[in-house]
Amino acid sequence: MQKNKWTDFPKVELHCHLDGSLSREFVEERLGRKVSLKELQVDRDCRSLLQYLEKFSLPLACLQDEEGLRGAGYDFIKSVSRENVRYVEVRFAPSLSAHGSLTCGRVIRSLLEGLEQGRRELGTEYNVIVCAMRGHTFEQNLAMLQAAREFLGQGVCGADLAGNEAAYPMADFLELFARAKEMGMPFTIHAGECGSPANIRDAIDAGAWRIGHGIAMRGQDELKRLCRQKNIGIELCPVSNLQTKAVESPGDYPLREFLDGGLKVTVNTDNRTVSGSTLSGELELVQELYGISDLEIRRMMENAAEVSFADDSVKQELLRQIRAAKGGDYETL
Ligand SMILES: [Zn+2]
Repeated sequence: MQKNKWTDFPKVELHCHLDGSLSREFVEERLGRKVSLKELQVDRDCRSLLQYLEKFSLPLACLQDEEGLRGAGYDFIKSVSRENVRYVEVRFAPSLSAHGSLTCGRVIRSLLEGLEQGRRELGTEYNVIVCAMRGHTFEQNLAMLQAAREFLGQGVCGADLAGNEAAYPMADFLELFARAKEMGMPFTIHAGECGSPANIRDAIDAGAWRIGHGIAMRGQDELKRLCRQKNIGIELCPVSNLQTKAVESPGDYPLREFLDGGLKVTVNTDNRTVSGSTLSGELELVQELYGISDLEIRRMMENAAEVSFADDSVKQELLRQIRAAKGGDYETL
C-alpha cells in the first residue's frame, strides 16, 4: 500500500463492499490458485457500471461457506486497519452467500466472527450493512432483512439496496423499506449512481438516512435542500464513480458543489480491490482534482462519524480522535 499524508489520519468509512474489497492474497488462498490483478480490478478503459460489476464473480466465490466468510471478515479489517480506518461500515448481500443449510443468519454470523477477530487483534471498530438486491424478489429480500434484524445492534447496523440501478427503479422497493423502517432498521440506498434524480427522491421519501453516491443530485436544488433539511449523509466514492462513468468527465464530479451546498458529504472507496483504491488515496485525489482543503477533509471525516449508524458513544469517540489528530493544516484549528 502506498502511503500518503492521510494514511495515519484517523478515518471513518461508510460505503465499502466486502466482496469488492477482498485482498488478492485472500482470494488466491481461497481459490487455491494464482489470480491476476486483471481478474479482480478494473483498468483505465472501464466504460460502465455493468463492466465494473463483472469483477465481482471471483471474490463472491470465496464467500460461499462459513470458513470463507470468517476469513473474509478478518481480511477486510486487516486491509482497512493498515491505513488507520478507526470505524468502518462494511456492506454485503447475505442472500448471495446463502444456499442449502447455510442460511442468511449463519452467513451473517460467520462474517461477524471474522470481523470481531479483526477488531480484537487490530482495533478497528466495525458494523455490517446488509444489502437487499435489486434483482431479488420482495419475499427474498424481506426474509434476508428479517434474518439480519436478529443481529441489529450486535454487529449489524442497517440495510442498503444494491444492484443494477438502471434496470430496477427505487419505486419498486418502497414497500420493502417501509418494512425495514417498521423493524427499526436504519438504511442507506444506492441512488443516483447512474440512475435518475427520481431514485434519490424516492429514497428520501422512503426515509433513507443516507444516500449511496447521489451523483444525479448534481444541479438539483430541491433535492439538495431536502437532504440538508433531513441531515442526510451523502456517500461519495470518487475513484469508483469516475471509473463507472457516473459523470462524463472528472470536471463534472459534484463533490465541490455538494460540499459548498452544505450537504453532509463523506468520501469512501466503494470497492478497495475492484477500484484499486484506499481511503487515503481517495482523499489525496480529491485534494488534487477538486482543491479540497485539509480542513474540508477533516470536516468530511466528522460528517462520516456523525451520519454513521454507530452508537452515540462510538460517534463521540471517533469525533474526539478526528479532532485530536496531528499534522497538516487541520491541526491549526
Ligand atoms: Zn456501492
